[in-house]
Amino acid sequence: MRRPQRHPIQCIVPPYIFRHMARSADPRVREMAVAALAAAAAVRAVRAFSQQMPSLLAAPSPAGRKHRLVYDARGRDELPGRLVRGEGEKKSADAAVNEAYDFAGDTFDFYHALFGRNSLDDAGMTLVSSVHVGEPDGRGFQPMSNAFWDGSQMAYGDGDGGVFRRFTRSLDVVAHELTHGVQSFTSNLVYRGQSGAINEHFSDVFGALVRQWRAGESVESANWLIGAEVLVPAPTRRAIRDMEHPGTAYANDPVLGDDPQPDHMRTFSAGPADSGGVHLNSGIPNRAFVLAAQALGGPAWEQAGRIWYDAMLQLSRTSQFADLARITAQVAGDRFGAAAKKAVKAAWKKVGL
Ligand SMILES: [Zn+2]
Repeated sequence: MRRPQRHPIQCIVPPYIFRHMARSADPRVREMAVAALAAAAAVRAVRAFSQQMPSLLAAPSPAGRKHRLVYDARGRDELPGRLVRGEGEKKSADAAVNEAYDFAGDTFDFYHALFGRNSLDDAGMTLVSSVHVGEPDGRGFQPMSNAFWDGSQMAYGDGDGGVFRRFTRSLDVVAHELTHGVQSFTSNLVYRGQSGAINEHFSDVFGALVRQWRAGESVESANWLIGAEVLVPAPTRRAIRDMEHPGTAYANDPVLGDDPQPDHMRTFSAGPADSGGVHLNSGIPNRAFVLAAQALGGPAWEQAGRIWYDAMLQLSRTSQFADLARITAQVAGDRFGAAAKKAVKAAWKKVGL
Protein backbone atom coordinates (compact mmCIF):
# COMPACT_ATOMS: atom_id res chain seq x y z
CA MET A 1 0.00 0.00 0.00
CA ARG A 2 1.22 3.48 -0.85
CA ARG A 3 1.60 5.92 1.99
CA PRO A 4 -0.90 8.77 1.85
CA GLN A 5 0.37 12.04 0.41
CA ARG A 6 0.98 14.78 2.92
CA HIS A 7 -0.55 17.25 0.46
CA PRO A 8 -3.01 15.61 -1.89
CA ILE A 9 -3.37 17.44 -5.18
CA GLN A 10 -6.65 19.33 -5.20
CA CYS A 11 -7.89 19.80 -8.77
CA ILE A 12 -10.90 21.71 -10.11
CA VAL A 13 -11.79 19.09 -12.76
CA PRO A 14 -12.61 15.77 -11.08
CA PRO A 15 -11.19 12.45 -12.31
CA TYR A 16 -14.62 11.08 -13.25
CA ILE A 17 -14.80 13.67 -16.06
CA PHE A 18 -11.50 12.45 -17.50
CA ARG A 19 -12.48 8.80 -17.10
CA HIS A 20 -15.61 9.51 -19.13
CA MET A 21 -13.57 11.38 -21.76
CA ALA A 22 -11.10 8.47 -21.97
CA ARG A 23 -13.91 6.40 -23.53
CA SER A 24 -14.63 9.00 -26.23
CA ALA A 25 -14.77 7.96 -29.89
CA ASP A 26 -12.51 10.91 -30.72
CA PRO A 27 -8.85 9.84 -30.40
CA ARG A 28 -7.77 13.41 -29.58
CA VAL A 29 -10.16 13.55 -26.62
CA ARG A 30 -9.09 10.07 -25.48
CA GLU A 31 -5.43 11.05 -25.64
CA MET A 32 -6.00 14.25 -23.65
CA ALA A 33 -7.99 12.45 -20.95
CA VAL A 34 -5.44 9.67 -20.53
CA ALA A 35 -2.67 12.27 -20.23
CA ALA A 36 -4.70 14.20 -17.64
CA LEU A 37 -5.21 11.06 -15.54
CA ALA A 38 -1.54 10.12 -15.83
CA ALA A 39 -0.44 13.63 -14.92
CA ALA A 40 -1.25 13.09 -11.23
CA ALA A 41 1.96 11.06 -10.96
CA ALA A 42 4.01 13.72 -12.76
CA VAL A 43 2.49 16.39 -10.55
CA ARG A 44 3.92 14.67 -7.49
CA ALA A 45 7.39 15.39 -8.88
CA VAL A 46 6.28 18.95 -9.51
CA ARG A 47 5.23 19.28 -5.90
CA ALA A 48 8.60 18.03 -4.66
CA PHE A 49 10.14 20.71 -6.85
CA SER A 50 7.96 23.50 -5.51
CA GLN A 51 8.67 22.45 -1.95
CA GLN A 52 12.30 23.29 -2.56
CA MET A 53 11.29 26.93 -2.59
CA PRO A 54 10.12 27.53 0.98
CA SER A 55 11.85 30.91 1.19
CA LEU A 56 9.34 32.35 -1.28
CA LEU A 57 6.40 31.11 0.69
CA ALA A 58 7.68 32.06 4.11
CA ALA A 59 8.04 35.78 3.37
CA PRO A 60 5.17 37.40 5.29
CA SER A 61 3.70 40.72 4.19
CA PRO A 62 2.31 43.37 6.56
CA ALA A 63 -1.35 42.92 7.52
CA GLY A 64 -3.68 43.66 4.60
CA ARG A 65 -0.86 44.09 2.06
CA LYS A 66 -1.06 41.34 -0.48
CA HIS A 67 2.01 39.85 -2.07
CA ARG A 68 1.54 38.03 -5.38
CA LEU A 69 4.03 36.27 -7.62
CA VAL A 70 3.01 34.89 -11.02
CA TYR A 71 5.25 32.43 -12.87
CA ASP A 72 5.17 31.07 -16.40
CA ALA A 73 5.71 27.29 -16.53
CA ARG A 74 6.09 27.62 -20.34
CA GLY A 75 4.06 24.53 -21.13
CA ARG A 76 6.04 22.22 -18.88
CA ASP A 77 5.31 20.69 -15.49
CA GLU A 78 8.17 22.01 -13.40
CA LEU A 79 6.81 24.50 -10.90
CA PRO A 80 6.86 27.33 -10.35
CA GLY A 81 8.67 28.22 -13.65
CA ARG A 82 9.99 31.66 -14.59
CA LEU A 83 8.85 34.71 -12.58
CA VAL A 84 6.90 37.00 -14.93
CA ARG A 85 4.97 39.38 -12.64
CA GLY A 86 5.60 40.37 -9.03
CA GLU A 87 3.46 42.46 -6.68
CA GLY A 88 2.92 46.00 -7.97
CA GLU A 89 4.54 45.32 -11.34
CA LYS A 90 2.84 46.50 -14.52
CA LYS A 91 0.43 44.43 -16.55
CA SER A 92 1.79 41.67 -18.71
CA ALA A 93 0.98 41.21 -22.40
CA ASP A 94 -0.14 37.71 -21.39
CA ALA A 95 -3.84 37.52 -20.34
CA ALA A 96 -3.30 34.40 -18.22
CA VAL A 97 -0.64 36.18 -16.15
CA ASN A 98 -2.96 39.14 -15.50
CA GLU A 99 -5.95 36.94 -14.66
CA ALA A 100 -3.94 34.86 -12.16
CA TYR A 101 -2.63 38.10 -10.62
CA ASP A 102 -5.96 39.97 -10.51
CA PHE A 103 -8.11 37.07 -9.34
CA ALA A 104 -5.63 36.09 -6.60
CA GLY A 105 -5.87 39.74 -5.53
CA ASP A 106 -9.69 39.65 -5.50
CA THR A 107 -9.63 36.51 -3.39
CA PHE A 108 -7.14 38.04 -0.94
CA ASP A 109 -9.31 41.20 -0.73
CA PHE A 110 -12.48 39.17 -0.10
CA TYR A 111 -10.99 37.26 2.85
CA HIS A 112 -9.36 40.41 4.23
CA ALA A 113 -12.34 42.76 3.87
CA LEU A 114 -15.00 40.37 5.17
CA PHE A 115 -13.16 38.24 7.70
CA GLY A 116 -10.00 40.22 8.51
CA ARG A 117 -7.94 37.33 7.18
CA ASN A 118 -4.37 38.23 6.13
CA SER A 119 -3.81 35.81 3.22
CA LEU A 120 -4.25 32.05 3.17
CA ASP A 121 -2.37 31.40 6.41
CA ASP A 122 -3.60 34.63 8.10
CA ALA A 123 0.07 35.61 8.38
CA GLY A 124 0.61 37.34 5.03
CA MET A 125 1.64 34.32 2.95
CA THR A 126 2.74 35.11 -0.60
CA LEU A 127 0.23 33.99 -3.25
CA VAL A 128 2.23 32.00 -5.80
CA SER A 129 0.63 31.10 -9.15
CA SER A 130 1.99 29.31 -12.20
CA VAL A 131 0.25 29.69 -15.57
CA HIS A 132 0.70 27.73 -18.84
CA VAL A 133 1.33 24.52 -16.91
CA GLY A 134 1.69 21.49 -19.17
CA GLU A 135 1.34 17.77 -18.64
CA PRO A 136 3.39 14.98 -20.21
CA ASP A 137 1.60 13.04 -22.97
CA GLY A 138 4.20 10.40 -23.82
CA ARG A 139 5.84 12.40 -26.62
CA GLY A 140 6.38 15.68 -24.82
CA PHE A 141 3.98 18.06 -23.14
CA GLN A 142 0.46 19.25 -23.86
CA PRO A 143 -1.49 22.08 -22.18
CA MET A 144 -2.89 20.87 -18.86
CA SER A 145 -6.70 20.60 -18.77
CA ASN A 146 -6.96 21.44 -15.08
CA ALA A 147 -6.11 23.81 -12.25
CA PHE A 148 -4.82 22.68 -8.87
CA TRP A 149 -3.54 23.69 -5.45
CA ASP A 150 -0.52 21.55 -4.57
CA GLY A 151 -0.13 22.44 -0.91
CA SER A 152 1.96 25.55 -1.51
CA GLN A 153 0.87 27.23 -4.76
CA MET A 154 -1.72 27.39 -7.54
CA ALA A 155 -1.14 25.91 -11.00
CA TYR A 156 -3.26 26.62 -14.08
CA GLY A 157 -3.36 24.89 -17.45
CA ASP A 158 -4.53 26.33 -20.77
CA GLY A 159 -6.94 23.48 -21.59
CA ASP A 160 -7.13 21.28 -24.68
CA GLY A 161 -9.18 23.85 -26.64
CA GLY A 162 -11.90 21.29 -27.40
CA VAL A 163 -13.64 21.11 -24.02
CA PHE A 164 -11.49 23.23 -21.70
CA ARG A 165 -10.07 26.73 -22.12
CA ARG A 166 -7.47 28.43 -19.95
CA PHE A 167 -8.35 27.96 -16.31
CA THR A 168 -7.43 31.48 -15.16
CA ARG A 169 -10.49 32.80 -17.06
CA SER A 170 -12.74 31.94 -14.11
CA LEU A 171 -12.61 33.93 -10.85
CA ASP A 172 -14.52 31.17 -9.04
CA VAL A 173 -11.94 28.59 -10.18
CA VAL A 174 -9.08 30.78 -8.87
CA ALA A 175 -10.90 31.42 -5.56
CA HIS A 176 -11.76 27.71 -5.31
CA GLU A 177 -8.07 26.75 -5.52
CA LEU A 178 -6.99 29.47 -3.07
CA THR A 179 -9.67 28.34 -0.61
CA HIS A 180 -8.00 24.90 -0.58
CA GLY A 181 -5.02 26.91 0.68
CA VAL A 182 -7.07 28.62 3.41
CA GLN A 183 -8.38 25.21 4.46
CA SER A 184 -4.89 23.73 4.75
CA PHE A 185 -4.28 26.33 7.48
CA THR A 186 -7.67 25.87 9.20
CA SER A 187 -9.80 22.72 9.51
CA ASN A 188 -7.51 20.90 7.03
CA LEU A 189 -10.23 18.35 6.30
CA VAL A 190 -8.93 14.95 5.20
CA TYR A 191 -9.34 14.75 1.40
CA ARG A 192 -11.37 11.54 1.37
CA GLY A 193 -15.03 10.55 1.83
CA GLN A 194 -17.36 13.01 3.58
CA SER A 195 -14.57 15.15 5.07
CA GLY A 196 -13.07 15.45 1.56
CA ALA A 197 -16.47 16.36 0.09
CA ILE A 198 -16.75 19.14 2.74
CA ASN A 199 -13.28 20.33 1.67
CA GLU A 200 -14.47 20.51 -1.96
CA HIS A 201 -17.72 22.12 -0.78
CA PHE A 202 -15.97 24.97 1.07
CA SER A 203 -13.84 25.65 -2.01
CA ASP A 204 -16.97 25.85 -4.19
CA VAL A 205 -18.79 28.05 -1.63
CA PHE A 206 -16.01 30.63 -1.35
CA GLY A 207 -15.20 30.32 -5.06
CA ALA A 208 -18.76 31.41 -5.89
CA LEU A 209 -18.90 34.01 -3.08
CA VAL A 210 -15.70 35.78 -4.17
CA ARG A 211 -17.16 36.10 -7.68
CA GLN A 212 -20.53 37.36 -6.37
CA TRP A 213 -18.81 39.81 -3.99
CA ARG A 214 -16.62 41.17 -6.79
CA ALA A 215 -19.72 41.63 -8.99
CA GLY A 216 -21.86 43.03 -6.14
CA GLU A 217 -24.56 40.39 -6.78
CA SER A 218 -27.39 39.79 -4.32
CA VAL A 219 -28.61 36.26 -3.72
CA GLU A 220 -31.73 36.94 -5.84
CA SER A 221 -29.64 37.45 -8.98
CA ALA A 222 -26.66 35.28 -8.02
CA ASN A 223 -25.31 32.54 -10.24
CA TRP A 224 -24.06 29.34 -8.62
CA LEU A 225 -22.08 27.85 -11.48
CA ILE A 226 -18.47 26.77 -10.95
CA GLY A 227 -16.07 27.09 -13.86
CA ALA A 228 -18.53 28.33 -16.51
CA GLU A 229 -15.79 30.37 -18.21
CA VAL A 230 -13.31 27.50 -18.56
CA LEU A 231 -15.56 25.34 -20.76
CA VAL A 232 -15.61 25.79 -24.52
CA PRO A 233 -19.27 26.85 -25.00
CA ALA A 234 -21.74 24.22 -26.22
CA PRO A 235 -25.51 23.87 -25.70
CA THR A 236 -24.96 20.67 -23.68
CA ARG A 237 -22.71 22.24 -20.99
CA ARG A 238 -23.01 25.25 -18.65
CA ALA A 239 -20.23 24.70 -16.10
CA ILE A 240 -18.13 22.08 -14.30
CA ARG A 241 -20.61 22.11 -11.39
CA ASP A 242 -23.91 23.78 -10.48
CA MET A 243 -24.18 24.41 -6.73
CA GLU A 244 -27.90 25.27 -6.87
CA HIS A 245 -28.91 22.27 -8.98
CA PRO A 246 -26.16 19.64 -8.65
CA GLY A 247 -26.29 17.07 -11.44
CA THR A 248 -27.37 19.55 -14.14
CA ALA A 249 -24.13 21.38 -15.09
CA TYR A 250 -23.90 19.34 -18.31
CA ALA A 251 -26.21 16.81 -19.91
CA ASN A 252 -26.00 14.59 -22.98
CA ASP A 253 -22.68 16.21 -23.78
CA PRO A 254 -20.85 14.28 -26.52
CA VAL A 255 -17.59 14.49 -24.56
CA LEU A 256 -18.54 15.05 -20.89
CA GLY A 257 -21.68 12.91 -20.74
CA ASP A 258 -24.03 13.73 -17.85
CA ASP A 259 -23.18 15.56 -14.63
CA PRO A 260 -23.17 12.80 -11.96
CA GLN A 261 -23.36 14.99 -8.81
CA PRO A 262 -26.03 14.00 -6.25
CA ASP A 263 -28.20 16.73 -4.68
CA HIS A 264 -29.63 14.72 -1.76
CA MET A 265 -28.37 12.11 0.75
CA ARG A 266 -30.59 9.47 -0.86
CA THR A 267 -28.29 9.52 -3.93
CA PHE A 268 -25.02 9.81 -1.91
CA SER A 269 -22.18 8.15 -3.83
CA ALA A 270 -20.47 5.53 -1.66
CA GLY A 271 -17.98 4.23 -4.25
CA PRO A 272 -14.18 4.44 -3.89
CA ALA A 273 -13.52 6.54 -7.05
CA ASP A 274 -12.60 10.24 -6.77
CA SER A 275 -11.19 9.74 -3.23
CA GLY A 276 -14.56 8.44 -2.10
CA GLY A 277 -16.61 10.90 -4.17
CA VAL A 278 -15.12 14.20 -2.94
CA HIS A 279 -16.26 16.08 -6.09
CA LEU A 280 -19.52 14.11 -6.30
CA ASN A 281 -20.97 14.31 -2.80
CA SER A 282 -19.97 17.96 -2.42
CA GLY A 283 -23.18 18.56 -4.42
CA ILE A 284 -25.23 17.73 -1.30
CA PRO A 285 -23.81 20.44 1.04
CA ASN A 286 -23.51 22.79 -1.98
CA ARG A 287 -27.28 22.63 -2.44
CA ALA A 288 -27.86 23.08 1.31
CA PHE A 289 -25.65 26.20 1.28
CA VAL A 290 -27.54 27.77 -1.65
CA LEU A 291 -30.90 27.03 -0.01
CA ALA A 292 -29.68 28.59 3.26
CA ALA A 293 -28.29 31.65 1.44
CA GLN A 294 -31.59 32.12 -0.43
CA ALA A 295 -33.60 31.83 2.80
CA LEU A 296 -31.33 34.27 4.66
CA GLY A 297 -31.44 36.78 1.76
CA GLY A 298 -29.27 39.78 0.90
CA PRO A 299 -25.80 39.27 -0.53
CA ALA A 300 -24.89 35.63 0.16
CA TRP A 301 -21.51 36.50 1.69
CA GLU A 302 -23.06 38.60 4.49
CA GLN A 303 -24.89 35.94 6.49
CA ALA A 304 -24.52 32.52 4.83
CA GLY A 305 -20.86 33.23 3.94
CA ARG A 306 -20.06 34.41 7.47
CA ILE A 307 -21.69 31.31 8.98
CA TRP A 308 -19.80 28.97 6.65
CA TYR A 309 -16.49 30.78 7.23
CA ASP A 310 -16.87 30.34 11.01
CA ALA A 311 -17.74 26.67 10.45
CA MET A 312 -14.65 26.20 8.26
CA LEU A 313 -12.53 27.40 11.18
CA GLN A 314 -14.34 25.22 13.72
CA LEU A 315 -14.45 21.84 11.98
CA SER A 316 -11.80 19.19 12.57
CA ARG A 317 -9.90 17.06 10.05
CA THR A 318 -12.40 14.22 10.15
CA SER A 319 -15.70 16.17 10.33
CA GLN A 320 -18.68 14.66 8.50
CA PHE A 321 -21.77 16.22 6.85
CA ALA A 322 -23.79 15.93 10.09
CA ASP A 323 -21.07 17.91 11.94
CA LEU A 324 -21.18 20.67 9.32
CA ALA A 325 -25.00 20.79 9.51
CA ARG A 326 -24.92 21.03 13.31
CA ILE A 327 -22.17 23.66 13.49
CA THR A 328 -23.62 25.91 10.77
CA ALA A 329 -27.03 25.88 12.53
CA GLN A 330 -25.38 26.70 15.86
CA VAL A 331 -23.28 29.55 14.39
CA ALA A 332 -26.35 30.90 12.57
CA GLY A 333 -28.24 31.07 15.87
CA ASP A 334 -25.34 32.65 17.79
CA ARG A 335 -24.60 35.30 15.15
CA PHE A 336 -27.95 36.05 13.54
CA GLY A 337 -30.67 34.72 15.87
CA ALA A 338 -33.30 31.99 16.04
CA ALA A 339 -34.84 32.65 12.61
CA ALA A 340 -31.45 32.23 10.92
CA LYS A 341 -30.84 29.00 12.83
CA LYS A 342 -34.21 27.69 11.69
CA ALA A 343 -33.46 28.63 8.05
CA VAL A 344 -30.11 26.82 8.09
CA LYS A 345 -31.61 23.71 9.70
CA ALA A 346 -34.42 23.69 7.10
CA ALA A 347 -31.86 23.92 4.26
CA TRP A 348 -30.00 20.86 5.56
CA LYS A 349 -33.27 18.97 6.00
CA LYS A 350 -34.09 19.51 2.30
CA VAL A 351 -30.96 17.56 1.32
CA GLY A 352 -31.63 14.78 3.81
CA LEU A 353 -29.53 15.92 6.79
ZN1 LIG B 1 -11.07 21.51 -5.37
